[in-house]
Amino acid sequence: MTDEQAFLAKLKEFEGREIGTQDGADAVNQAMIRHWVEAMGDQNPVYVDPDAAAKSVHGQIIAPAVMLQAWVMRGFAPRPSEGGNTQDELMRLVESEGFTSVVATNCEQEYDRMLHLGDHLRTRSMIDSISEEKQTGLGVGHFITTRVEYETLDGEPVGRQLFRILKFRPGTGRGAAPTKDEEKPRPKRPRPALTLDNKFWFDAAKEHRLVIQRCAGCGTLRHPPRPRCAKCGSYEWDAIDASGRGTVYSFVVNHHPQVPAFDYPLPIGLIELEEGTRLVADIVGIDAADVEVGMPVEVEFVDHDEDLTLPAFHPAK
Ligand SMILES: [Zn+2]
Repeated sequence: MTDEQAFLAKLKEFEGREIGTQDGADAVNQAMIRHWVEAMGDQNPVYVDPDAAAKSVHGQIIAPAVMLQAWVMRGFAPRPSEGGNTQDELMRLVESEGFTSVVATNCEQEYDRMLHLGDHLRTRSMIDSISEEKQTGLGVGHFITTRVEYETLDGEPVGRQLFRILKFRPGTGRGAAPTKDEEKPRPKRPRPALTLDNKFWFDAAKEHRLVIQRCAGCGTLRHPPRPRCAKCGSYEWDAIDASGRGTVYSFVVNHHPQVPAFDYPLPIGLIELEEGTRLVADIVGIDAADVEVGMPVEVEFVDHDEDLTLPAFHPAK
């Protein structure tokens, strides 16, 4: 048995274990409902107006169903370093193997009935399931699903929730340098949406030519490609070869969200060509932090794969 299998076996022992019960600090009450619907911008009077609620199918004030979790949710408390409940024990075990980061991934709720003012809830929680080790975009980790049954203090079931988190090792996501074992072919860049209007431009890029569409009626240059001249209305056009020289008119440096086909930080420029049209392209050959508006740049062509070549711009030499 590998270390990873042994660890998974330990984790699996937690499946089905009770975490315990917890009582809501307060019964379902108007003040909490009012704050919640105001924060959400929900103006349904059935939540806050006793007269309107009395005339509704509910006959009385109801709490928004999705507030379920709020009625028993406790305030933030640091996890005890020893003891505590089953969940505290599981989290300590997971974190001891380096899975210290957390992100909530799914929440599913079911409701048995609407909640009314005065309903006082209790939860019964258990560890529902724990996944094997998974490589995710954020990092290597385990999905942990907790099941929470909601009932009144008298024991009447009112709803339930499955809540899934990912506990992962920081720095092991797809943006991180891969280890030998997990080195995989890099996904391809997203394809441009080719149309009859723009295909010529990408075809030229494949030949390492930067072209600009030109109106055959009045000679006005335009980019991005489109069927009709905005100046004279002509549908006739041809294209010229650009010099490839221009300046950075504007730019952004993209950090998130990270897509595996790209390197980050990713400087993306709005390049003003000396012919006067502008285009969006990667800025290369320079530290992202050193890119400046107005910087002279020159085109180069990057063959991303057999089907995709795109212009990029480096600082002019
Ligand atoms: Zn024209």
